[in-house]
Amino acid sequence: MANAPVQRMSQLMAKTLRDDPADAEVLSHKLLVRAGYVRRTAAGIWTWLPLGKKVLANVERIVREEMDAIGAQEVLLPALLPREPYDATGRWDEYGAELFRLQDRKGGDYLLGPTHEEIFTLMVKDQASSYKDLPVILYQIQTKFRDEARPRAGILRGREFLMKDSYSFDLDDDGLAQSYALHREAYRRIFERLGLDYRICAATAGAMGGSKSEEFLAPAEAGEDTFADCPNCDFAANTEAVSYELKPVDAAGVPAAEDIPTPDTPTIETLAAQLGVPASATLKNLLVKVDGEIVAVGVPGDREVDMDKVEAHFAPAHVEMVTEADFIARPDLVRGYVGPQGLDKVTYIADPRVAPGTAWITGANKADTHAKNVVAGRDFEVDAYVDVVVVEEGDPCPRCGTGLKLDRAIEIGHIFQLGRKYADALKLDVLGQNGKPVRVTMGSYGVGVSRAVAALAEQTADDKGLCWPEEVAPADVHVVAAGKALQTELALEVSEKLAAAGVRVLVDDRAGVSPGVKFTDSELIGVPRILVAGRRSADRVLELKDRRTGEREELTVDEAVARLTAR
Ligand code: ATP
Ligand code: MG
Repeated sequence: MANAPVQRMSQLMAKTLRDDPADAEVLSHKLLVRAGYVRRTAAGIWTWLPLGKKVLANVERIVREEMDAIGAQEVLLPALLPREPYDATGRWDEYGAELFRLQDRKGGDYLLGPTHEEIFTLMVKDQASSYKDLPVILYQIQTKFRDEARPRAGILRGREFLMKDSYSFDLDDDGLAQSYALHREAYRRIFERLGLDYRICAATAGAMGGSKSEEFLAPAEAGEDTFADCPNCDFAANTEAVSYELKPVDAAGVPAAEDIPTPDTPTIETLAAQLGVPASATLKNLLVKVDGEIVAVGVPGDREVDMDKVEAHFAPAHVEMVTEADFIARPDLVRGYVGPQGLDKVTYIADPRVAPGTAWITGANKADTHAKNVVAGRDFEVDAYVDVVVVEEGDPCPRCGTGLKLDRAIEIGHIFQLGRKYADALKLDVLGQNGKPVRVTMGSYGVGVSRAVAALAEQTADDKGLCWPEEVAPADVHVVAAGKALQTELALEVSEKLAAAGVRVLVDDRAGVSPGVKFTDSELIGVPRILVAGRRSADRVLELKDRRTGEREELTVDEAVARLTAR
């Protein structure tokens, strides 16, 4: 590859700003704007300036190299897509308000791709006919569109953003497991090379369908995901995916259920106080409507219901809270006194903590009355056990029982074993070895390329500004000419020598900018090494500073070139 020319700041299309943008909430947003990497074009829509584009290209390059290394083939699909394949899989409707839908001049329906399972499936259907054509892994690095509800976190959550998405096509489950394992390894290498701190966490498959799935989460305050980490064993999971085994208990010694008068106790707190029991001894029953049908959700009285989990369980059906009108229409549902025993025509789902044999104090379905010794599996049936409580710090690790730690994180990658959902919907078969058609099984895998830039900024920045790891930095060295003509001459000379030796150089040759501003800017921009032509320029001596540690040393021009090219 040809050496990159020296990038002069006097000509750079990027202005640093002294103040944070008014709408910025997260650190990466503030710093990437202030340091001149990106500019906001509209809500959730971003322009990449030269420095930002360099970092983005470096992330892309690392992702591309590691995908190529597992034998994946790069393609480029359109972002503007026809409706029909998304109708076939149901996602034209199921994707909801996040999908950008549009019409062409003839009234035909189109969408801007949020992810490309359908189109990849059709491409393989068109190109592959025999078992000999598989397995295959295909990927692209492409702009995606999602009309996010809260595009407030800057580059972390764009409505237009850059993603690497790949798709594996295999003949059987073993093949799929292998393609998945290849991706898992490639992702580890990608995030290690990027210099990101990350954890691999069990995840729920969500709206994508399918079975096994893991997320790569980068711990950061600005993250919108919460993950549970076991301090004792290697368990780590998105809190959405923490799930417990059902452990039935013996209820032989529990007396028959009986009603108890409990006037004015419509809440768990009032009930527990009146009876002198802990809230955890009571069973709370939350009523919701799923596509219009009443469903009750049972959890211990001291726990909160995680509505996202309830929604995920019933997706794509629509979940809403019950209203006054529902209680009027169903006099058997007594607000504040609902119990699962004797409930008619109500689906009952419960957390695994409400295991068969556990006994509870719960509503008696009569005003001002509760019932005690109400036993799961004896006095009421649970239609489905679903992990629906909000996971809390200190909850037991599902694997070893140790109290879990909770941390915020940014999702930087996601790998899924999809199975045959898309192949079934779009009838993707190849001819098997025995001459009979075989339904193909798929995986889908994403890396948030633009999001990784912001995640890196979040994890590596300090109080002075950005602080890039070597492989993604927009330059290897930031040469600063303190100001005088002699200093600028020396700075340009050493810059040319470094560039000739293959070092990527950004040089601050701006005239009329004070040395103080230049130093502050160099720290804000965050190139790993800063080389200053200052006080001792007449002796041809420069100062080399490590951006992260602040360590400095004086070097002659030749020493500086030797030092920086040795890396
Ligand atoms: P999130 O839960 O953050 O919305 P997701 O589950 O919708 O993410 P996927 O559909 O798995 O994400 O997309 C693959 C990857 O693309 C994610 O792991 C993430 O890194 C990135 N990504 C998703 N949505 C955005 C967005 N709005 N802006 C930037 N990157 C995104
Ligand atoms: Mg999303």
